[in-house]
Amino acid sequence: MIWRILGLALTLAVAIDAAPAGAITIYPIDRAQILAGSRFDLKVEYDGVIGAADAKVTIDGTDLSAALGRPATFVEREDGVAASALILRDVSLTKPGRYAIVASDGKTSRTVGWEVYGTGPRKARNVILFIGDGMAAAHRTAARILTAGISEGKYHGGLAMDAMPNMALVGTAGVDSIITDSANSASAYTTGHKSSVNALGVYADRTPDTLDDPRVETLTSLIKRTSKLAVGVVTNTEVEDATPAAMVAHTRRRSDYDPIVRMFHESGVDVLMGGGAAHFLPKSSPGSRRKDEIDYIAKFRTGGYAIVTTEREMKSATADPATRRLLGLFHPGNMDGVLDRKFLKQGTVTSFPEQPDLVDMVKTALTVLARHEDGFVLMVESGLIDKYSHPLDWERAVMDTIMLDRAVAAAKEFAGARNDTLIMVTADHTHGLSLVGTVDDSVRSPEMRDRIGVHEKAGYPNYPPANDEGYPSRLDVSRRLAIFFSAFPDYYETYRPKLDGPFVPAVGGPDKSYVANEKYKDTPGAVLRVGNLPHGAPQGVHSGEDVILTATGPGAERVRGFLDNTEVFRIVVDALGLAAGPAQ
Ligand SMILES: [Zn+2]
Repeated sequence: MIWRILGLALTLAVAIDAAPAGAITIYPIDRAQILAGSRFDLKVEYDGVIGAADAKVTIDGTDLSAALGRPATFVEREDGVAASALILRDVSLTKPGRYAIVASDGKTSRTVGWEVYGTGPRKARNVILFIGDGMAAAHRTAARILTAGISEGKYHGGLAMDAMPNMALVGTAGVDSIITDSANSASAYTTGHKSSVNALGVYADRTPDTLDDPRVETLTSLIKRTSKLAVGVVTNTEVEDATPAAMVAHTRRRSDYDPIVRMFHESGVDVLMGGGAAHFLPKSSPGSRRKDEIDYIAKFRTGGYAIVTTEREMKSATADPATRRLLGLFHPGNMDGVLDRKFLKQGTVTSFPEQPDLVDMVKTALTVLARHEDGFVLMVESGLIDKYSHPLDWERAVMDTIMLDRAVAAAKEFAGARNDTLIMVTADHTHGLSLVGTVDDSVRSPEMRDRIGVHEKAGYPNYPPANDEGYPSRLDVSRRLAIFFSAFPDYYETYRPKLDGPFVPAVGGPDKSYVANEKYKDTPGAVLRVGNLPHGAPQGVHSGEDVILTATGPGAERVRGFLDNTEVFRIVVDALGLAAGPAQ
């Protein structure tokens, strides 16, 4: 008997000892790829409280402080966690190659491997990265149908984002989940490191402070620290929102808008345009959403930025050849999308009638950035593709996909034939939507579902030809695209575009649940779709399929096959030759 007990005890001891791959956690993570010379914070999280003398870390067998030039800080008890940690901030490795990092607590150890990579010589003068937030294949196909037209299986034109020599599929999963959000996904593009949902420019650690997590260097910081290139960020969402913020931010929580504005100011970004003015204004100013009295508009002005808040101001500031730094804030929150701004004059367009179009913002950014002699990096987000896909409003999302494409066309025109500008167009994640046919009102049935034509009965929609800007003047045509989402709360499917304002599929019900919005119940032929998401979901969600990346210009040849999202960063820094140390 005693042998059996002892045996059990031994089994348990071995189980605890061998365990967890999670017993000691090391950041950057196993299999991290790190640009030579880029900065990062190293953190080791131990499983319990240990003595300082037991906390040992080596890199390729050399003690950490010798390998990285400085000793790490030992924290006996981390905030909110009864466990110890080692932190060493702002270090870098300049020699390309593979590194083995071993962390030990005196009893157990954990080993992770990093790959440090160099870059070749600079190939591109400029890099422009377009992100269609949430853009899936169906958004692109529908945009192509609406803007180019199609008959007998052949398009009458194409998308500027399609007409590029290189294409790849990009995987978007993060450290914590197969499904990503815009924060950790954009962060992979701007740092080359994976992260977790809601996190920007950091590995998400276990302490509650959202601003103390181990950081990885952003593209903006790298550029400003090591080169004279200019940096631009353009979006039609709030500039503090996840995708644009990924260019400068380090936080575990993407909603840290006040700190993100500070990070933008500290970053030295040269052109910044979008919505989100409310977090730049001191608390006592009307419309402010800041928690303090700092006036960031004044701070940017003092820093030499031209400040503009309308399309007219934007154009006149750009016309001045002395304008080299520009802050454009055109809305307190998210700007309005194309359908509401150009056609329906709805949303918040009556309150903010002078919002510029994304295409004009991109042209402006290119004009101002081109005044910088050493080239530039510009990130452009068409952010409302995602904001409209969440509430299942595919028409608005597709109109903003066309807008993204017009902006890409403007960038291609800028790049022209000089072959010094790498342009990449991609998404950060997808939404689950599919084009399955058409809705044909000439089918005389009171039930809308009977008007869906699939396979050969789908035929072709009858949208009017696109106008000069690439948009169809009407979406409520008698034979329109049938596009459906795959993940949703309870909602009424109306089979029609929502011309009275963006769709609100579900509203708050009892017990924190969401129920179908009765507003659409009496739309003729509407059907109730019983949701397949948890009851607490107010709208649709991101999906985990790969996104499409197309590219043209120097460095684009690396865009092929399947890429991890961290490799998009690698393509950018390689094109710009941003690695320190010997070339590889
Ligand atoms: Zn989203």
